[in-house]
Amino acid sequence: MGMSAELDLGLERRIGKRSAAVIEKHLGITTVGGLLNYFPRRYLDRGELTPISEVPLDEDVTLIARVVSSSTRSMRARRGTITDVVISDDDGQTGLRVVGGRDYRGKVPGTLKVSFFNGYRAKAELLQGRRALFSGKVTRFGGSLGLTNPDFLLLDEDPFTKGRDPEQLAAMPIPVYPATAKLTSWSIQKVIATLLETVDLGTLPDPVPAAVSVREKFLPMAEAYRLIHAPETPKDWQRARDRFRFQEALVLQSALARRRAQLAAEEATARRSVPDGLLSAFDRQLPFTLTAGQSAVGKTLSEELGQDAPMNRLLQGDVGSGKTIVALRAMLQVIDAGGQAALLAPTEVLAAQHYESIRRTLGSLSRDPMLSGDGLLAGLGGNGVQVTMLTGSMPTAARKRALLDAASGTAGIVIGTHALLSENVSFHDLGLIVVDEQHRFGVEQRDVLRSKASKPPHLLVMTATPIPRTVAMTVFGDLETSVLDELPAGRAPISTHVVGLFENPGWAGRIWSRSREEIDAGHQVYVVCPRIGTDDDGDFSPGEAEPSPADLEGDGAARELASVTTIVEHLQQEPSLAGIPVAPLHGRQEPAAKTAAMADFTANRIKLLVSTTVIEVGVDVHNATLMVILDADRFGISQLHQLRGRVGRGGLPGTCLLVTTLEPGHPSRRRLDAVASTTDGFQLSQEDLKLRREGDILGASQSGGRSTLRLLRVLEHEDIIARARQDAQDIVGHDPSLERHPWLAGAIDEYLNPEKEAFLERG
Ligand code: ADP
Ligand code: MG
Repeated sequence: MGMSAELDLGLERRIGKRSAAVIEKHLGITTVGGLLNYFPRRYLDRGELTPISEVPLDEDVTLIARVVSSSTRSMRARRGTITDVVISDDDGQTGLRVVGGRDYRGKVPGTLKVSFFNGYRAKAELLQGRRALFSGKVTRFGGSLGLTNPDFLLLDEDPFTKGRDPEQLAAMPIPVYPATAKLTSWSIQKVIATLLETVDLGTLPDPVPAAVSVREKFLPMAEAYRLIHAPETPKDWQRARDRFRFQEALVLQSALARRRAQLAAEEATARRSVPDGLLSAFDRQLPFTLTAGQSAVGKTLSEELGQDAPMNRLLQGDVGSGKTIVALRAMLQVIDAGGQAALLAPTEVLAAQHYESIRRTLGSLSRDPMLSGDGLLAGLGGNGVQVTMLTGSMPTAARKRALLDAASGTAGIVIGTHALLSENVSFHDLGLIVVDEQHRFGVEQRDVLRSKASKPPHLLVMTATPIPRTVAMTVFGDLETSVLDELPAGRAPISTHVVGLFENPGWAGRIWSRSREEIDAGHQVYVVCPRIGTDDDGDFSPGEAEPSPADLEGDGAARELASVTTIVEHLQQEPSLAGIPVAPLHGRQEPAAKTAAMADFTANRIKLLVSTTVIEVGVDVHNATLMVILDADRFGISQLHQLRGRVGRGGLPGTCLLVTTLEPGHPSRRRLDAVASTTDGFQLSQEDLKLRREGDILGASQSGGRSTLRLLRVLEHEDIIARARQDAQDIVGHDPSLERHPWLAGAIDEYLNPEKEAFLERG
């Protein structure tokens, strides 16, 4: 189902059978619309051309040059010919360019040897005196530099340059299409030129509503297609690109808005709050007052849970902002209304933490599973909630019991890991799913859990990874978003310092005496290492930690990185820590050992915990005040920010030491400086994303792993995405089925091919 007859038309009807076959073979494109929408990846400004005297070895260059001579000879060792072409830029066309701000005027014009193996076309076309554009990788042969089998385009025959005066020509940008080894950018350009001549662009349907086009001062669509493929000036393609970029944002946002509308139209069980239920009892015994944000979000959730359309909400809140209480209150409302709630955590450590802390927070409202199972509380079901944990590593008997409690409805809250997703888990009446730390969970997993309820359950996704607004609008565009943007009152500040051992090796010992001071004051210390042992590649067990940007930079090989085992050994010899109970915690331990280490630390039996990033997410030990991160440059910004959020939780000021052996000014140390400079998670995430590549942002959260966005950049085009989202909301709000916007609906269908559907199928 496409947008219009013309766009859906087979390519052969417009560019002929042969060209169509070539395009299909190399680009997989079969329709007029497909090829029209095959936009240049970039444009070469002729001013960016490389002067021959400056060509760098092993780099891809594009240069305009004149053929000085050409000769063809047979190869000695095997069949075939070599055509040697000598080119020069001595006509002044490129020798006077200002490239990258540097002025090459006055440089000696260069010559370059270009060789073609069996270059029949080169032999025929690259005749003495002809000008051509060459593009290829500079290699060295013999003593001099040259190009081997470069792409070339005769400028006098280029459909876009033919018959233009030199000045005009010099200003014309050269479109560069995503090409393949067999099909060059220039061949694509030629075919598209034919297409532009044979298609009646004026009849193409425009998915952007006229009012929006007028407001945005967009080029008419026909003009935009022409100028994106065949611009005469840089301004041309910029204007065309602006239009298509907005169009892309609008189509995407409309798809998401429509999906939101469809989700909202689904029927869920309303879980209205009741006057004297568990939630009121819980609120009465809360030892603190909710922050304004927690109250406001709580009110929103309460209202949405009370409706018979499923809630689909993303709750963002920086580390320590108190998301758990908000989620717990929502769960209690659902339980009051007769439903069950499931809390999905990314790791066993975190599930166990949640289990402990939720039971602690519930206090007398937490009902003991042992008793209820024996029927001792039969008839008293109204006065408490049973919290049940379900993880893969539980002993069989306990696991069976948990499964039974979930299925029978005895368990009001079921907390678990991926184990909750397995087939044999069922619920009596699942009313609410809470997913904690969404970024560790796949979309599919969320959907599996949804399928465990007879009617769509309400859904709350929580994330501490601050997501820039535009990413939230795009990646989580089908979820409504709430933000907790303040920390609970009395939260002590965390001060962060970069400890540079490169310039101050003596500070290594000082870290441990500082730890001792903290412990002597009655507090506890986390020490985080990038590795478990000396022989591993880090602690990247599934669902626990992701490779950091620094891992991808591959700068670790040369240095010996701190590991949990070596640091634990080292600390046992460390005089300033003599007699201090120290324990390791990492992903390769048995689950029971992990849980024990965490429990001992929580109970203050262990004073100093040496771990990998298993403690990164959600761990909540109020008495911990010092966080030491060794080889901190091995972690990403958001990881560091999350780790730091583990201290300063109990009203005691926290300190975070980012220890590094890299020299000041090293690119990887920039991340540490950024983390030390602010505690604002949102500002950091912007910084983080700037230091990463776009694909990593969308890629990680898309099931396909490939960015489906072409012209839109989630970080750069915040304004565009925001405007398009507003427009989409207006359009879908007035016309939910898009009956009156058929071209937009068509463009959405086009967009939602099966691969992309996975991208939207979430929630
Ligand atoms: P996160 O958003 O990182 O998951 P948590 O929900 O774990 O944060 O909350 C962090 C700590 O703050 C917990 O110990 C919690 O009990 C406490 N807390 C939550 N809300 C408040 C509040 N309004 N006032 C004081 N402490 C709070
Ligand atoms: Mg949390």
